Amino acid sequence: MALVNEHFLKLPNNYLFADIAKKVNAFRVTHPKADVISLGIGDVTQPLCPAVTEAMHKAVDEMSTAEGFHGYGPEQGYDFLREAILKHDFLPRGIHLDIDEIFINDGAKSDTGNIQELIRWDNSIGVTDPIYPVYIDSNVMIGRAGVLENGSWSNVIYLPCTAENNFVPQLPNRRIDVIYLCYPNNPTGTVITKDELRKWVNYALKNDTLIFYDAAYQAYIQDDSIPHSIYEIRGARKCAIEFHSYSKTAGFTGVRCGYTIVPKDLTAATLDGKRIALNLLWNRRQSTKFNGTSYISQRAAEAIYTPEGKEQIRKTIGYYMENAAKMLSVFRSMGLECYGGENAPYIWMKTPSDSGSWQFFEQLLYSANVVCTPGVGFGPSGEGYVRFTAFGSHERTEEALERIIKSLGV
Ligand SMILES: *Cc1c(COP(=O)(O)O)cnc(C)c1O
Repeated sequence: MALVNEHFLKLPNNYLFADIAKKVNAFRVTHPKADVISLGIGDVTQPLCPAVTEAMHKAVDEMSTAEGFHGYGPEQGYDFLREAILKHDFLPRGIHLDIDEIFINDGAKSDTGNIQELIRWDNSIGVTDPIYPVYIDSNVMIGRAGVLENGSWSNVIYLPCTAENNFVPQLPNRRIDVIYLCYPNNPTGTVITKDELRKWVNYALKNDTLIFYDAAYQAYIQDDSIPHSIYEIRGARKCAIEFHSYSKTAGFTGVRCGYTIVPKDLTAATLDGKRIALNLLWNRRQSTKFNGTSYISQRAAEAIYTPEGKEQIRKTIGYYMENAAKMLSVFRSMGLECYGGENAPYIWMKTPSDSGSWQFFEQLLYSANVVCTPGVGFGPSGEGYVRFTAFGSHERTEEALERIIKSLGV
């Protein structure tokens, strides 16, 4: 008899975005003529830039010749892309990485979910709250998170991020083995300053804590003083693994490519106190379970580092950030309390008159036919907030804003 991994059964059946889709569908059935605008799910809308599609076409043509054909590539990724990453994403910020510290992935969701395989089942886990659900759910699936009680997992330490602490959590007053941080943040759209991030690195060094740092939105940072990488902080090489993605940077949500940095200085302990290099373990894990990201996707990613590619993705990011600026200015002029949206493509809004997240979601859906994401879906501290994304087209975003003004009044 095959026994299932019962930890999976602890996960709530409903996935946040499936719940939203269900409610939107119910609305559509009763209002067939309504034109619903979604500012909910975090997917991009603008096409790939020409530098990327040209590189992909070229790679496809190569693959059709005997000389240019590429079969299995290195599990760690092709050196042409790893070298481009070193040269363009890190050297200009004064960060020196070894090429073997870079692991090309098929997107940051896989690696932020898989990385927990490197640590024992009984490590304590801390997360900022609200949070990108992958970090917790991947720990639930192997039994590290405990059980769900009143919306919180019993073995997870929640570090609340609210307006009161400017969405940067207090340092925990106890030691935690592993902490997930994501800046610029999804869902709140807020950022961390270098000084604040330094406190986390120092906490980690002092407490022998491992930080999993998700930098998926670093390309949206407009203010040069905000760190793009945790390795801008001295000592981070000894305590942090960092995840990057081309999904939001260059519209790769359907192409699939990103990378993970596992520094060679980073170690974790065995029960008898030996220190083991996580770079070697991750390399072993990837070699066994991953056969690399496609050659075509990696050539596509390389193209964003050319001068044309850089300029083209900068324009698209600018396009989304114009949406964010417009949304912020309209919401604020309506007296709504909003956060984020300045260095990230998300706006985190306090619901007016203290309505619950889901209540406001429904109000907006029925009165303005606009879809947002209920903040409580990202964790208990998200209750009373909703998230708007800036990933729409200018036309649809403006239309949504006009309807929100009409339905909520100024
Ligand atoms: C979108 C997103 C990612 C990237 O996911 P991919 O698998 O690279 O598409 C990672 N982390 C966060 C917080 C995200 O919002």
